[in-house]
Amino acid sequence: PATTLPDHIALAEQWSTHNYHPLPVVVAEAQGAWVTDVRGRRYLDFLAGYSALNFGHRHPALVAAAVDQLGKLTLTSRAFHHDQFGLFCRELAELTGTDLVLTMNTGAEAVESAIKVARKWAYEVKGVPADTAEVIVVGGNFHGRTTTIVSFSTDPTARDGFGPFTPGFRVVPYGDTAALQAAITDRTAAVLVEPIQGEAGVVVPPPDYLPAVRRLCDANDVLLIADEIQSGLARTGTLFALDHEGVRADLYTLGKALGGGILPVSAVVGRRDVLGVLRPGEHGSTFGGNPLACAVGRAVVRLLATGEFQERSTTLGAHLHGRLGDLVGHGVTRVHGRGLWAGVELTDRTGRAASEALMARGVLCKETHGTTLRMAPPLVVTEAEIDHGIDTLAQVIA
Ligand code: PLP
Repeated sequence: PATTLPDHIALAEQWSTHNYHPLPVVVAEAQGAWVTDVRGRRYLDFLAGYSALNFGHRHPALVAAAVDQLGKLTLTSRAFHHDQFGLFCRELAELTGTDLVLTMNTGAEAVESAIKVARKWAYEVKGVPADTAEVIVVGGNFHGRTTTIVSFSTDPTARDGFGPFTPGFRVVPYGDTAALQAAITDRTAAVLVEPIQGEAGVVVPPPDYLPAVRRLCDANDVLLIADEIQSGLARTGTLFALDHEGVRADLYTLGKALGGGILPVSAVVGRRDVLGVLRPGEHGSTFGGNPLACAVGRAVVRLLATGEFQERSTTLGAHLHGRLGDLVGHGVTRVHGRGLWAGVELTDRTGRAASEALMARGVLCKETHGTTLRMAPPLVVTEAEIDHGIDTLAQVIA
């Protein structure tokens, strides 16, 4: 009976740090697009672990790859070679059309790694004087939570109280080509940008922005680093969100869905002459590129290589945006995003209030900031399930 269940929320309150404000649901099981709480109540997942669950919960092919590898080998450290590493790197490079792969674990580590590589490239290849390289970032960015990354955040909650900050970053407004041009100097190593800003509310830049960023980078011998940790791996209907713009980055940071929602797997992928600046001992990670991560990552690459998930995101995303568009003027002010990814600006309630009301009706999603609701269902969701989610939203905001 329910009364004998441990109070998981009270336990978390008492025993964990309070750096999150989760919805009051306690999930115990999940499959595909659905999760079940400790009391047996089912919810439609409209968040998908912030895109870490692009293939849904416990996709059979991913679970099979993990279970198979668990029975053989899980960790060697990089002190030794193992039989999944080279294959994963080749398959990921081939999928992404890149030359080299640097394996890490979390998204923030991939971003940190890309920054380190860009700085070293600036000194060794571009000829920037030692310890003066700059990386240009944009306002509203979200790249993770490490000390260096929050150093260039423009969100006071992410930053305040955590200084002193890492120098070497310049912030320009997102979508502003002139400001970017003005910020580039001889010391600029790279521009780091999310092709669509997830945490900021699924913000799509003006149509010509990313091609202009590419042109400015080319003209000034500056690297373009695309953070595709949330936007990439089929979320927007293409492998990379940048593909919609016909733009290639020099480095891509990948994470979240790269681990199939099973374990943390991240990577920097890109040009050989850039990632090639790293030599033995200069960078690494005990768990980065471990056998289990590589086996699951290889299964993720196989799913993405079929194009099925990109296709689903395109088709079902059109349906999602069509349905959300009909709510504009009926409790929704504006909708943005691409594919199965939407930022929904609510007219007269907070994203938090709407998330709680949706949860009470069996749909899980989450606010980003203020009045914006972020929707990112797993790419295995069906059209009928999308309708269920949007019908529920319509009831909540009516
Ligand atoms: N970069 C982007 C664009 C993200 O959305 C996130 C996480 O939300 C990160 C980096 C950080 O990833 P992680 O939480 O795995 O460190």
